[in-house]
Amino acid sequence: MRIEKDKYINVMDKNNTPVAYCDLPVALIFETQDCFSGTIKSETDTVEKLDYSVLNPATGPVYFNGVRPGDVIEIKIKRISCDSPGCTMCVPTEGLLGDLVKKSVTKIYHFENNILTLSDDLKLKLEPMVGVMGLAPKDEGIGTVIPGDHGGNMDTTLLRESSTLYLPVFVEGGLLAMGDLHAAMGDGESFYTGLEVSGEVEIEVDLRRDLKMDIPFVKCEDKFASIATAKDVDGALKKAMEKLVKFISDNNGMDFYDAGFLCGLYGNLEISQVVDPLKTARMSIKTEILEKLGICL
Ligand code: CA
Ligand code: CA
Repeated sequence: MRIEKDKYINVMDKNNTPVAYCDLPVALIFETQDCFSGTIKSETDTVEKLDYSVLNPATGPVYFNGVRPGDVIEIKIKRISCDSPGCTMCVPTEGLLGDLVKKSVTKIYHFENNILTLSDDLKLKLEPMVGVMGLAPKDEGIGTVIPGDHGGNMDTTLLRESSTLYLPVFVEGGLLAMGDLHAAMGDGESFYTGLEVSGEVEIEVDLRRDLKMDIPFVKCEDKFASIATAKDVDGALKKAMEKLVKFISDNNGMDFYDAGFLCGLYGNLEISQVVDPLKTARMSIKTEILEKLGICL
């Protein structure tokens, strides 16, 4: 089933009207607009042209029949297709170097056959990822520029082709929406944006009632990571470890100290993004370690 990009939301909310209903498991293709809703078309379109009310349109939401609060859904990312060109922007006071950015600059970069042209002598491989993917939160709606326990604007580079995202369900049907594709983005999204593109995402969704989690987790290649959001980076790092320790305890029965030692010795803290209104970090551990504990992903 294909979900068209003119069916989108700017707030993830349990009261949104679903654009499609489906039984699990299901294969879906989400067409997505870029994070600027297509309003940034040339390098003369800088922050002054930006309409913050149209940021991060997320295609959906899709209702999954029979899915209820307390469940976990598994989203396998089969393919991410990015439309060329993409745009990226820096803005004074935004991003890690916001104090050094004296003017807003927009760059439009073209790519073809998976190769991005930054300049005549600098051509690099595309690294496509999904910036926004989430379900409706339990309580009040949350804007699609905000990351959280429901997913949303997580801007996590591990959300790429062949990865699997796990999301806790807070409302009946889950209500999945996504958008904000990046053709490339470094961990941190440190200069304010990724290479923002429209495109499409092909996924397979299934129910995982066997897993217990209350924030998003992702499996990417040989590792599994919590995706934790908090007010600041320190808080996000602490939550990332706390939730991975809890995941191991809840799914294996290991006590807090043993799970804490395991994560202290073999877990790795990583930064997802430091530019959204909230900050996102993760703690990863090798999937082979979880397999030894009998946790099957
Ligand atoms: Ca984003
Ligand atoms: Ca973005």
